[in-house]
Amino acid sequence: MNPKNYRFETLQVHAGLRPDTETGARGVTICPTAAYRFRNCDHAARLFELSEAGNIYTRLQNPTTTAYEERIAALYGAVGALAVSSGMSAILLTVLSLARSGDNIVASPYLYGGTYNQFRISLRNLGIDCRIAASERAEDFEALADERTKALYVESMGNPTCAVPDLEALAALARRIDVPFVVDNTFGAAGYLCNPFEWGADIVVDSATKWINGHGTSMGGVIVDGGTYDWGNGKFPQIDGPSEGYHGLNLREAFGAAAFIAKCRVDGLRDLGCCPSPFDSYLMMIGLETLSLRVRHEVESTRKVAEYCLHHPKVKSVSFVGFESHPSYGNARKYYRFGSSAVFTIELRGTLESTVRFVESLQLAANMTMIGDSITVVTHPASTTHKQLGAADLAAAGVTPTLLRISLGLENADDIIADFEQAFAHVSDK
Ligand SMILES: *Cc1c(COP(=O)(O)O)cnc(C)c1O
Repeated sequence: MNPKNYRFETLQVHAGLRPDTETGARGVTICPTAAYRFRNCDHAARLFELSEAGNIYTRLQNPTTTAYEERIAALYGAVGALAVSSGMSAILLTVLSLARSGDNIVASPYLYGGTYNQFRISLRNLGIDCRIAASERAEDFEALADERTKALYVESMGNPTCAVPDLEALAALARRIDVPFVVDNTFGAAGYLCNPFEWGADIVVDSATKWINGHGTSMGGVIVDGGTYDWGNGKFPQIDGPSEGYHGLNLREAFGAAAFIAKCRVDGLRDLGCCPSPFDSYLMMIGLETLSLRVRHEVESTRKVAEYCLHHPKVKSVSFVGFESHPSYGNARKYYRFGSSAVFTIELRGTLESTVRFVESLQLAANMTMIGDSITVVTHPASTTHKQLGAADLAAAGVTPTLLRISLGLENADDIIADFEQAFAHVSDK
């Protein structure tokens, strides 16, 4: 099918699907195989030198995963996608495919805690300098960029404050200084709420563990290639130059617009090994089928519960990107369908202890570090996702001791409100 002819809701159930040629089975088949039998040795040689496309070994590709990757690429209107074992491995593989020791990337200050640690500790230890901009304004990114900069990196909605950067302005900067613009679009729900490619992103990463899977049943990540970046500017010899791993093959010449995603697969996945299992790819395919329906419900519930919190005496403040009071209200309206995601934060009146008491009194909402699950999740960042950050970084990320992040699930919002009500009753006013 040509994805250009169909809308999101249609693509989320049809893209990547082909009836099984032998049985006619309509569903995607789980292929639990590690390897694939070659027709002959010549066939094997052609696959290995990349002159013919085909399955070699499940670390590199698997039919179930290929169907899932096709669906993701179709939803994003992209030239290709690569599925990996987690969101963190999608980010790692992306940065390692762009930057080498001595290079740098410039990133937003509003990053998922895991990404922050990967950038500031693990990648720095590999010699890749991940510079954190003072704000999400383009001039603050530009101030840190130099001739060794290999990417600008932001989240389309930041964690946990739901800051939405001006994607167009940052994309314009990336074009001007000629570096790829990479966007973590986990909150954008595979393009349904936000599609960064429409605003100038070159590469998208997405933690599929969240809204793509949608049921909290498996881990995964995807890298998506918009096919828009021109790799022929001399800055990326690993893409436009003789490939060490493939007898001097030039990936840009061999794969054209899809050179980056090919690089991530043939070098990244081959060497780092963070491939998904076919069963997990199957779960992602099933999750995607209801993505728009789930997210619409969650976004509606989010507004309802956020409004309830706004009027509750034990809540000090509510930060919901769909309210005009949120600093990113304007950007969310521009870049996010419904001007909103399914996550918001509240700050309780009181102390760390009373906040913990509220969380521990919840009966329906789950105390977990998770977003995009089918059940409602309440997370206490100060004791979990942001526990490793120092005081200054905590303040910069907007994390206080009484801050809670709430990710609405598929329950009836009134039942969640009732659960909050009884939990608030356990918290003293002090
Ligand atoms: C969860 C998350 C990640 C990491 O994804 P995993 O699948 O948990 O490895 C990265 N970025 C954002 C914005 C996330 O929410």
